[in-house]
Amino acid sequence: MMVDIFAEAPGLYLYLSMIVFWFGACFGSFLNVCIYRIPENISVVKPRSRCPKCLKQIGWRDNIPLLSWSLLRGKCRNCRAPISARYFTVELLTAVIFVLIWLQYSGAPAARPLGLVWTPFILHVPVFWLFAFGLILGTFVDFDHMIIPDRVSLGGIVLGLICSFLVPTLQLQPGDTDINGTTAIFRSAIGAAVGGGLLYGIGCIGKVMFRKDAMGLGDVKLLAAIGAFLGWQATIFTTMISSAIGAVVGIVLIIFRGREMGSRIPFGPYISAAALIWVLWGSPYWYDWIQKLSYGY
Ligand SMILES: [Zn+2]
Repeated sequence: MMVDIFAEAPGLYLYLSMIVFWFGACFGSFLNVCIYRIPENISVVKPRSRCPKCLKQIGWRDNIPLLSWSLLRGKCRNCRAPISARYFTVELLTAVIFVLIWLQYSGAPAARPLGLVWTPFILHVPVFWLFAFGLILGTFVDFDHMIIPDRVSLGGIVLGLICSFLVPTLQLQPGDTDINGTTAIFRSAIGAAVGGGLLYGIGCIGKVMFRKDAMGLGDVKLLAAIGAFLGWQATIFTTMISSAIGAVVGIVLIIFRGREMGSRIPFGPYISAAALIWVLWGSPYWYDWIQKLSYGY
């Protein structure tokens, strides 16, 4: 069930991918506003963005995703104060992730070497764009403030339930031929409960072992939201992979930056990265592994 139109018209596929890239960059630009304003409880719509140094309003031509930052070489047009490279990074990251999610559906030959999980359901594309939007938002707020806003985590649980009901195939598991909205919302709820419960349990064990809070409640709610979107099996995958990434990064930081053992590092970014790995690449490996564990082949 490959989408043959792209084999017939590779130019069209390239053109659509470029539009998606631009669309993602624009969302990345909006994400920069959200990352800065949501923790401060400022509206993300008004007022228009200003230079934090000279407070001059940023004109439309200096607000074009990716291009403006590059053309201005990371400086305010008015006062030449440096503008963080992070704005550019978030825009590029969002654009790339949006394209990868789109390529999962297109099944275009050029995308196959990337090893992406292919999906025949086009509605998964906007849902996973929304999902990625929330993960990037949570990640960068967590970097800055060591919190994951409830609007991201609790909002994500609600959105995961709604999306599963509207697009039941999100909760499709190997072996299923079809799924209806009621089953999907049920699986979504189970996913949220398992995700939240799992990390909460690990947090309790950590508290007993290390006699301090090892896990923030924000991480617990974030994994519940991931479970609501991806189902319970994804939460176990996400916990395992995020711990592995966290351990590697933690060791690297201790060796190269002289960080103290046990100093607090935000865990939300690793959870987000692992959840995205599940969506783009991971799920078939997981199901294969479960199959081998269950049946021994
Ligand atoms: Zn300025």
